[in-house]
Amino acid sequence: MKHNMILNSLNPAQQDAVSAPFGHQLILAGAGSGKTRVLTHRIAWLVEVENISPFNILAVTFTNKAANEMRTRIESMLSVPARHMWIGTFHGLSHRILRAHWEEAGLSESFQILDSDDQFRMIRRVINALNLDEDRFPPKEAQWFINAQKEEGREPHQVQPRDFNGQTQIKIYQAYQEACQRSGVIDFADLLLLTYKLLQSNAELRLHYHQRFRALLVDEFQDTNTIQYAWLKSFAGPDCAIMIVGDDDQSIYGWRGARIENIQRFSKDFPSAQIIRLEQNYRSTGTILKAANALIEQNAGRLGKNLWTEGKEGELITLYAAFNETDEAYFVVNRIRDLQRNHHSLREIAILYRSNAQSRVIEEALMQSGIPYRVYGGLRYFDRAEIKDALAYLRLINNCADDTAFERIINTPTRGIGDRTIVAIREHAKASGITLWDALLQLQEQNFFAARAASALNAFIELINNLQDKISSHTLNKQVEFVIHGSGLIDHYRKEKGERGLTRIENLEELVNAAHQFMQEGTPDNMTPMSAFLSYAALESNDDQASAFDDCIQLMTLHTAKGLEFPVVFLTGCEEELFPHFLSMHDPKKLEEERRLCYVGVTRAMRKLYMTYAEVRRMHGKEAYHRPSRFISEIPVELVDEARFRTKVTRPTIVTAASYQPKSSGKFRIGQDVHHRIFGDGTIIDIEGSGEDMKVKVRFEQVGTKQLIASYLEVK
Ligand code: ATP
Ligand code: MG
Repeated sequence: MKHNMILNSLNPAQQDAVSAPFGHQLILAGAGSGKTRVLTHRIAWLVEVENISPFNILAVTFTNKAANEMRTRIESMLSVPARHMWIGTFHGLSHRILRAHWEEAGLSESFQILDSDDQFRMIRRVINALNLDEDRFPPKEAQWFINAQKEEGREPHQVQPRDFNGQTQIKIYQAYQEACQRSGVIDFADLLLLTYKLLQSNAELRLHYHQRFRALLVDEFQDTNTIQYAWLKSFAGPDCAIMIVGDDDQSIYGWRGARIENIQRFSKDFPSAQIIRLEQNYRSTGTILKAANALIEQNAGRLGKNLWTEGKEGELITLYAAFNETDEAYFVVNRIRDLQRNHHSLREIAILYRSNAQSRVIEEALMQSGIPYRVYGGLRYFDRAEIKDALAYLRLINNCADDTAFERIINTPTRGIGDRTIVAIREHAKASGITLWDALLQLQEQNFFAARAASALNAFIELINNLQDKISSHTLNKQVEFVIHGSGLIDHYRKEKGERGLTRIENLEELVNAAHQFMQEGTPDNMTPMSAFLSYAALESNDDQASAFDDCIQLMTLHTAKGLEFPVVFLTGCEEELFPHFLSMHDPKKLEEERRLCYVGVTRAMRKLYMTYAEVRRMHGKEAYHRPSRFISEIPVELVDEARFRTKVTRPTIVTAASYQPKSSGKFRIGQDVHHRIFGDGTIIDIEGSGEDMKVKVRFEQVGTKQLIASYLEVK
């Protein structure tokens, strides 16, 4: 009975995988073939049929959102609660382990997590403290170096310097580690590295987890890096059954240290693993699947597979040659309106792009058209400056040793504490090996500063002390509320005029809501609600997924779209230099990774795929002319809508002017339908200047795009 429920909705190959005897498995299969589904059903099978307790299961997914979805699906198949099952991301699970074993891991109980922006600031401080020239040793480069070392599991003393420059990088790495330790903070890479080291060095704990985890399951395995693989292996005891699920054609994080070779490594390390292939695709139409297959065939050295579908051929892929990025955005908006009219809900539609910066223009067009949307990844809520300021206050109040937080807010809002004062505090801290906060207290005691600076500093100390006192007896959301007001942040941002300041205040107020919601969900026993909330905020800001799921358009980078599916997908910015990205164009290996990224994008679409490119695009502050992406020409012509043959800017944008109020000047605005005596009907796609000098770009239905003096046009 239970068997049937779990196996019913699976094809024979999937059933074999789900009901395989207890042991290792490697599922290697293409996009949309049901890998994630198999992994989810396998967990239910282990619990219901193999009688393994949820407590004994460890499952690793790529995002928190995927983890939550998986848990819900598993729960619907189980007769027992799945609360004690561990499902999460590498980072989330590591965090859990380190919170439980902070002492054994050599951490302070209230350790906090540096996100990548904080990490950058910390590294910059370290570079300055070492008296190195920031131009010669850019902090960004050092950050990249440090993270790359950590991803390979190397501590400073384990790195082999290649040259003098390398030696200095190691020195920075070392000093950065010391600074982190002094402040009681760790970075994202540390989460994994420290967990791994903990298990390596502590036989008792290792045994504990080996006994606990009888089954280990990993989704999206093709994107694991060296340290993640080592992490996984260290959790796998001799009696543990491992299921690895992946697709070599979807490996898209090589630039962040992911190793496709881990797939071969796994087969070698676990030779008894049964290899299972799934070839039927359930996600996409025949047309989309053929396009994806043709595209990925251009890559060499694949493990090779042949995906097919029983589904319909479906609609052709629509290709749109936009004149510029605005035109592209309005094309997308317009099609979305059509879809809405045909009763598609918005959440069925995703707009994908290669680079984060592309979202702005699309967001603007959506906003002006009143279409709700959500940006996944990129600069999200917890990454916004005002939120980081508020969190820094909370962090310093929670733990005065948090130097990064200290630096961020000592003069935010401005309170007359100058750079020279801060440098003096930094130097004293460094010389005495103490935290910035302690250094400040000591210097004040010694009357080190002149009267003005001293009184400003005193005000800061009092502010922090007062906030600490004031909030101690309150609930988390009240604490947050006190701090955003008491810190002066709200008043500070009130000074920022217009929409922007208002948005920031709304964002700050939203933090109180976030704290409230967080409290409702309960916090772990061994943490204060504030510590737990701060860790959550740091982890959230690294997670590429948004939590709410309103009915809105989903915007995201191609990287973020991995593992997801949408009935309708717009793949925008398909231009050479943008996609493939200019940094990858001349390196065959990187180019293949770009192609896999395109494969990931194409295979997100279930029923309809649009691909768009712009002939002119403003990038890095100037207009650039790019050819259409080579990936477009790798898709067989017969799968693509005839729009492809009208690339010479003869395709009209079909925009309904009444639907939005974009950039406008007088009676003209972008998106407006106009008529010209000679050129005929068209749509405004850009406006420059105003009054008599106003020029407009119009895409005419018959003659393509022209730039004209506005007064020659009639509004339709
Ligand atoms: P990706 O490589 O993109 O991560 P995947 O291999 O993990 O894809 P899933 O997301 O598990 O694929 O499945 C793709 C879609 O096909 C889902 O909507 C899933 O529910 C559906 N599906 C999978 N197997 C079957 C099946 N046997 N019958 C019906 N639908 C299925
Ligand atoms: Mg999947």
